[in-house]
Amino acid sequence: MEILLNEIIENNRHLIKNGKVADYIPALAKADFEKIGVTVAGRTGALLYSAGDYNQKFTLQSISKVISFLVAAMDNGIEDIFEKVGCDSTDEPFNAFTKLDLPNVNKPANPLINSGAILTTSMIKGNGDEKFQKILELTRRMAHNPNIGYNEEVYLSEKKTGSRNRSMAYLMSSKNILEGDVEDVLDTYFKQCSIEVDTRDLAKIGRFISAGCEGINIDGISRTDMSILLKGLLFTCGMYNYSARYAIEVGIPSKSGVGGGIMGVLPNGMGIGIFSPALDENGNSSAGIGIIKELTRRLHYNIFDDRKLQVEIDTH
Ligand code: GLU
Repeated sequence: MEILLNEIIENNRHLIKNGKVADYIPALAKADFEKIGVTVAGRTGALLYSAGDYNQKFTLQSISKVISFLVAAMDNGIEDIFEKVGCDSTDEPFNAFTKLDLPNVNKPANPLINSGAILTTSMIKGNGDEKFQKILELTRRMAHNPNIGYNEEVYLSEKKTGSRNRSMAYLMSSKNILEGDVEDVLDTYFKQCSIEVDTRDLAKIGRFISAGCEGINIDGISRTDMSILLKGLLFTCGMYNYSARYAIEVGIPSKSGVGGGIMGVLPNGMGIGIFSPALDENGNSSAGIGIIKELTRRLHYNIFDDRKLQVEIDTH
């Protein structure tokens, strides 16, 4: 498997030059755009197959929205969440919010775009740092890594320059969509985006969701149904406005972040984590997309590819 992963990295390395490291958060601009790492997490805990710069640390950014959504759902029940936020995919960029200002629009499209994520974070119960600690705790649990922390420099950089996120949060507050102290909510959101992981952590988070979200208890929905819902949400909304094409071309529930990470939920209790910080025009990792496309095609992991059942990861 490691040989295959190395080969796929090399086949897609050239895509780095089509991308650009995110610089709208100044601290992210420092990322080394030449780094590429991949980890596939097999079905059982110990099985991790890694290649390249797999242990390079980077920040979760948008991938944290999956985790804050789960925490908010645990605190409120699933129905309350979907009363406030939709589950519609959108062709708008992740940080768009013009539609939210229309008089008849009272819900962000889904919890995986910035406005929806800021709103779900606002629904997490707790004061001050408690919201963030819950998100961090769940991240550690999903990744089986108690050492996960956050990057203070990235957090402060985003806090200082996050005018767009601030604008959409205050807009939602003015329409009584978002309750509570707006600056506190934003602070939690900026911190959750700055949680630092490597590809092994991401792969294990993918495996956690694929294997059925062990230990997650949410009112109004069984754990299995929650895992199905989450996979559907990631499948339709997880890759910004590239989600529909990605669903066709890659065919696995995934979430990307502007830190260059892609977390994929492979079939059968497996997960994948990829890192390469040069981003394409949609905000997705350029080489990362190439790598996951090639991997899912060669191993038949696309959920619509019936041949996948014949392929056992452990035989590669
Ligand atoms: N912290 C980033 C922002 O709010 C997250 C966006 C992303 O990864 O898509 O702009």
